[in-house]
Amino acid sequence: MPKFEDSRKLRKKETFGPTEPPDVELQTIQNLKRRLKHDNKQQSVYKYQSELFINYKKDKEIGGEIATPGHDILVLVRTYHPFTQRQKNPLKQCLSILQLNTIITVLGSQTLAHLRDKISCIADCTISKECSEDLDNAIGPMAKDVYKSGFFFIEDTFYNDSRCSQNIDYSTVIIEWAQRRANLGPFKTAIMEECRIDSLLLRFGFPWVYKHQGGCEHLIVFSDARLINNDDTLAVAAYPRIVRLRPLSSKYCLICGMYNAQWITMEHERIPHNPCYFCNNCFKSYNYINGKKVGNFKAFAYPRNVELGGKVTNK
Ligand SMILES: [Zn+2]
Ligand SMILES: [Zn+2]
Repeated sequence: MPKFEDSRKLRKKETFGPTEPPDVELQTIQNLKRRLKHDNKQQSVYKYQSELFINYKKDKEIGGEIATPGHDILVLVRTYHPFTQRQKNPLKQCLSILQLNTIITVLGSQTLAHLRDKISCIADCTISKECSEDLDNAIGPMAKDVYKSGFFFIEDTFYNDSRCSQNIDYSTVIIEWAQRRANLGPFKTAIMEECRIDSLLLRFGFPWVYKHQGGCEHLIVFSDARLINNDDTLAVAAYPRIVRLRPLSSKYCLICGMYNAQWITMEHERIPHNPCYFCNNCFKSYNYINGKKVGNFKAFAYPRNVELGGKVTNK
């Protein structure tokens, strides 16, 4: 058998080799050389390397309404982790790096409220409560079950969640603030649960805002849309669904470095870290003697406890 010759490599070497052309000082050539050097170091870089694909089993058991292939549309929405804005340094407003959270597919016939329910955020999981004197009651209700207000801001409209009668209209104060400025607005308001995804007029690839829990802001991007086909799950109840996510590294106990954090302490007088993260064992053994608190500190349950359905006990 003749050996297959991979001419592509040769061609690349001949044309774009970092040593060629040697005597040209063009900036583009210099940049190309630098890039090739960099690419050689990371040859196996894959576009989705940092993302996990979620494989769903064929959902034959999901009943109910069925989407029509070639007729209903499927929209991809990228959601990002919240970021903090600090006023101290106006040149560097966004201090935390913008990080992808999940990529969600939603049907055109579904509403923004369906999409909202699929966006996960740690701020929804717990209500911070100082519990160093009462560890048994450290975990209360989920924040998303108590504070249900939220909105999407898309193009010029605030889509408020009004599914619960106690919900606060977060957009009112922003609209009033914008009215006092000549170059902002006018803005409209609409109801989140009444707005179908396929009725939105928006720019794809442009960042819009999802806000909840008072001050937790996420960017969301509508990245793609296509007709649903027979290879997709057709059950409407299966959507919205998370198709890819970016895994987050766990927060480990700062004492043993082995187990996941279950407790957070603040203003701990015997620890140099503020905040400090503890696993359950280290937290109990370092801070309590026979169930009695030692020294001054504030303690909070780490939100993950609630998310995983685990219960922290005082044993
Ligand atoms: Zn959030
Ligand atoms: Zn530990």
